[in-house]
Amino acid sequence: MVVNKMTDPQEMYDIVIIGGGVTGLAAAMYAGRMKLKSILIGYPPGGVIATTDWIENYPGFISLSGKELADKITAHAREYDTEIILDNVTKVEHQNNCFIAYTAFGQYTTKTIVFATGSQYRKLDVPGAAEYEGKGVQFCGLCDGPLFQDKTLAVIGGGDSAAKEALILSQWAKEIYIIIRGERLKAEPVNLERVNNNNKIRMISETNVTSIEGSEHIERVLLDKPYQGNNELPVQGVFIAIGSSPLSDLAKTLGVKTNPKGEIIINRQTETNINGIYAAGDVTDTEFKQAITGVAEGVLAVYEAYKYVGGESVCTCVDTDYIDCPVSPEDLRSQSK
Ligand code: NAP
Repeated sequence: MVVNKMTDPQEMYDIVIIGGGVTGLAAAMYAGRMKLKSILIGYPPGGVIATTDWIENYPGFISLSGKELADKITAHAREYDTEIILDNVTKVEHQNNCFIAYTAFGQYTTKTIVFATGSQYRKLDVPGAAEYEGKGVQFCGLCDGPLFQDKTLAVIGGGDSAAKEALILSQWAKEIYIIIRGERLKAEPVNLERVNNNNKIRMISETNVTSIEGSEHIERVLLDKPYQGNNELPVQGVFIAIGSSPLSDLAKTLGVKTNPKGEIIINRQTETNINGIYAAGDVTDTEFKQAITGVAEGVLAVYEAYKYVGGESVCTCVDTDYIDCPVSPEDLRSQSK
């Protein structure tokens, strides 16, 4: 569902938050508390975490699903006067000292932007992976696991996501092989212990999948090294958990700097290289990417935006009209620190 509203290009926002995951939602909540004229534009609602079955490392909640967490933060944000729309931003522009975010049907002029655009699943580049995508090659155990009742599955990857996917899938599957190209599974210790104690899960390390094969359905993966004497591993489904790529393309169009991985470079204040643009969560170069760290960065970004727009001398512009700044944004920022 995409919800839109009629937009007034003359309307000026203090802050536009792009991204509907928990990072963006937490930013929207704080923007509301800080009485900033704010809007969150994001789709799908709740972002990637809404497809996670269980979260046990968000302080204050011993265990809850990703959707529950996203719903709770959304409800919290809606307690305040902040707008939330389900839509995608298709283009952003920098005009004088302001920014304009465009959706298919509207445009939003703003003094600041927070990029909380997250990341997308990384795809495996081997023969068969694209051909069987959605037909046995999957990315979300919680969403698609029930389709693989009593099947033998491969989970490809060696991080915490691979561990969690295998654990989720063990509810339905007969057996699961985690195929790790490195020496060992680098999961959170608590998840590693669960994997080790789960008699449906086996690990194949220092091995790459070179091909996914079958006819109408997946029948096997080929390995670059024999497992129990055979390079063919019979499976009926393959779940890819090899990390994710940051969704930073939109930010890059504004000249926002990224690292070689494409992650937006931020400082401890979540500032990017461009005044008035902040970034938070999985799209950034923060090493330890967790729901709680994304939420914290979203909150920091709003605080910085609040200081940025809060000075009396902040320039205003409406659409293409621009009133010269009596004080440069750099001066303004140093005054507010
Ligand atoms: P990750 O930690 O980046 O691990 C990706 C894994 O996939 C690595 O083992 C990597 O191998 C492997 N890999 C990459 N490309 C591959 C390829 N082409 N073929 C085979 N294997 C490949 O990714 P992740 O597990 O998705 O975790 C991403 C971030 O999300 C982490 O920061 C993690 O802490 C976080 N996370 C958080 C939660 C949570 O909040 N509870 C849950 C899950 C993940 P190499 O090691 O050899 O490169």
